[in-house]
Amino acid sequence: MVGPCADTAPLCLGCYRPVAGPRRCRRCGWPLCSEPCEQSEQHRAECDLTAGSPLGALSGHEGVDWYPCVAVLRLLRLRDTRPADWARLLQLQSHDDERRDTDTYQLEQTTVVDRVRHRFGQFQHSEMLLHRICGIMETNAYEIRLPEINVQGVYARAALFEHDCVPNTHRTFDENLTLVVRAAVDIAQGEHLTSIYTDNLWGTWQRREHLLTSKHFLCECARCCDPTELGTGLSSIRCSLCQYGYIQSVDPLQVQADFRCAACGALVPGAPVRSALAALEAEVQAVEEEPTIDDCERLIQICSSVLHPTHHLMLDLKYPLVHLYNTSEPLPAAQLDRKEQLCKEILSVADVVTPDDQCYALCGQEARDVLCAAISVLRWEPCVQPEGQLGLEAAEELTELDAWLREHLPAAEPVQGDGADSETPTGRRTGPPADTGEPRRGAETGPDCPAQRPCAPRPEEPESHTVSCAEQAPVPRRAPTQLRA
Ligand SMILES: [Zn+2]
Ligand SMILES: [Zn+2]
Ligand SMILES: [Zn+2]
Ligand SMILES: [Zn+2]
Repeated sequence: MVGPCADTAPLCLGCYRPVAGPRRCRRCGWPLCSEPCEQSEQHRAECDLTAGSPLGALSGHEGVDWYPCVAVLRLLRLRDTRPADWARLLQLQSHDDERRDTDTYQLEQTTVVDRVRHRFGQFQHSEMLLHRICGIMETNAYEIRLPEINVQGVYARAALFEHDCVPNTHRTFDENLTLVVRAAVDIAQGEHLTSIYTDNLWGTWQRREHLLTSKHFLCECARCCDPTELGTGLSSIRCSLCQYGYIQSVDPLQVQADFRCAACGALVPGAPVRSALAALEAEVQAVEEEPTIDDCERLIQICSSVLHPTHHLMLDLKYPLVHLYNTSEPLPAAQLDRKEQLCKEILSVADVVTPDDQCYALCGQEARDVLCAAISVLRWEPCVQPEGQLGLEAAEELTELDAWLREHLPAAEPVQGDGADSETPTGRRTGPPADTGEPRRGAETGPDCPAQRPCAPRPEEPESHTVSCAEQAPVPRRAPTQLRA
């Protein structure tokens, strides 16, 4: 099942593009952009279940307030149309007991449960069942990033994956929004498949808190247990005593724990460290709202005396900065060097926490290798997702780079890949999107290069992605609302 997120902006329930005009489904009144979308299979569930409601069709712009009900209605319809999938759905974890009395539960009572029953006349479904469906979605739905608006999907088999903060699989979606899972590393027979249900560039506290509030468990994976976060420094803070070491929690699984410097051994009380971090985080979030080069660099400068260069708050500033140093005009040498440095720092972390990713140097032929790797990594991504667009951009940039290399480094035979592990852009090699835009996770390897694939059509055919219920856990950057378990 794929459907809109609860807090979505107004979107067409057929193609998931933003809608602004007055066009409505003639039968049910939900916003839709076109006749094909009105007739689309994916719109059928809410159309059938709401058009005949006692209060009649939605009208005016009222419908936009009712989006939180749509995904629930789509799942409810499985009961009548696909009983086997309905049965599988009800087997998924919903954490009813843990959710009861939470703010989310109370909100869903009014935005979903009361509306589905009283507004849309679905009295045959008990309040308990509707809350259970909400819990199943919160626990199991994956966020699907589309170019303009994100949606969510519940996939039956993927819901069974275990969580790990360094997962051994990578997930993406094809053009029909079917979830595709691939091995990120070699996986031995009998080994459990794992996925990550939170942001892989968050620090241990943030990941664990998010997992606890949305997925109702506390992760104790190897990364969470390691104060250095596998040597990445994502949660490391400069020692103010020796000035050259880094302090890390003596027990990363305990939020109240003290810190110890790995260099001088000094023990630092945890409380003042946590309040200092909270203050810095507030400043970082303020800058993230509308990041500019000056603001990011200024705050990085300030944070540098306190945080590890790849502390997750530093990455929150450095990541947008990479894109801000990305004008269509040639960058001055100093800015180019700065951008290269930022990319290397980010890649050094991604290389560890996203096993699919590898770090590459960014000069001359090396830059070409990175582009080839990025293209290879992104080749599975459909054009309907930001990663697919990035793959196309990378292919264009590769063409430009080859022309530049031919002109400036004719002896370098730039059009060759490095043979060993990066065939041509269509070769099979993994690596992170070097200077990519939004998507920070999304690396994949696969057979065909996005540059050679026709752009996939928008999702029109619901059958294929109204998959049963199983897979994916979504992971937002700052608002962990509907990640998947
Ligand atoms: Zn549409
Ligand atoms: Zn309709
Ligand atoms: Zn973990
Ligand atoms: Zn120290």
